[in-house]
Amino acid sequence: MVLNCRHVWDYISGYLDNTLDAQTRTDVEKHLEHCEICSAVLDSTRNILILTADDRVFELPVGFSERLHARLAQAMLEIPPDEPESSA
Ligand SMILES: [Zn+2]
Repeated sequence: MVLNCRHVWDYISGYLDNTLDAQTRTDVEKHLEHCEICSAVLDSTRNILILTADDRVFELPVGFSERLHARLAQAMLEIPPDEPESSA
């Protein structure tokens, strides 16, 4: 199954929690290999988890997730549609 970015975003928390089944995990990893946006999302999400795992209390600003998703949606619009060579 080929995942698009939105699928991957849905799977990211499961990916980091290690709760995905093996096939889904493989599909997510395959997508992350060639998608800069999703790799960036994964990195930011992981950083947030590291911060929250710290002793310090770390609160995300209200609306953080909405703004993140809005920004991602904007970034998606800026990506050209599927490039012919990208399927290799
Ligand atoms: Zn992606």
